[in-house]
Amino acid sequence: MRERIIAGNWKMNTTLQEGVELAHSIIQAVKGIDDVTVVICPPATHLSAVGEVIKGSSVGLGAQNVHWEEKGAFTGEISPLMLEEFGCRWVIIGHSERRFWFGETDKIVNHRLRRALKSGIRPIVCIGETLEEMESGRAYTVIEAQLKGSLDEVQLTGRGSVVIAYEPVWAIGTGRNATPGEAQEAHSFIRKMLTMMYDKETAENTVIQYGGSVNEKNAAELMACEDVDGGLIGGASLSVDKFSTIVRAASSTS
Ligand code: PEP
Repeated sequence: MRERIIAGNWKMNTTLQEGVELAHSIIQAVKGIDDVTVVICPPATHLSAVGEVIKGSSVGLGAQNVHWEEKGAFTGEISPLMLEEFGCRWVIIGHSERRFWFGETDKIVNHRLRRALKSGIRPIVCIGETLEEMESGRAYTVIEAQLKGSLDEVQLTGRGSVVIAYEPVWAIGTGRNATPGEAQEAHSFIRKMLTMMYDKETAENTVIQYGGSVNEKNAAELMACEDVDGGLIGGASLSVDKFSTIVRAASSTS
């Protein structure tokens, strides 16, 4: 059975105190759920304090960005060495908000991804089409290009390796999630692409998360899709009740 991963992307939200309290509550709320890997990705300023809170718990710490160099003149960026210092074992790369607001290309995503892997930080690589791309029938062409560009010269080993997050941009923060049918079709397409780019075993072992307006109500039906192996959760990850309900929905014991 494939690993299941639920990651919370806090984006640029929470004060330090709110973040610490949220992390405490999440640890308590997901205690005992041992068939879902739970990761929280606070803002960079909170990584140290939240890292202390979750030390020794089953919850993993993730960052929202990583640079491809260890140090240097890269104002505003964060180095993999800095993330290691905080005990950060996960990182979100290529989120559509970074692609849209900061012009991140697949090439940049690929640089960040390769560096994360080299540092032993597990990347969650986001791909997904915009509304305009979906409406003009180009969704899968875009997904294929993003997948190939982001994973260029990257060796996938499947288990414990790169996580793909399929996040249709039209579903992020909009309250309009992909239907289970739409999500399953896109995930199955991504897995087929991975089979072609690598091999069947690698594709079968690669975790493909769905992201885009997942909440406590729609999580169960999305997580029930054959090729949906968890979720990347934005807004709902800021509520301990909603987030833990989503984690339970991904658990086979729920
Ligand atoms: C995200 O930011 O990755 C995301 C999926 O956001 P939301 O759950 O709020 O749509």
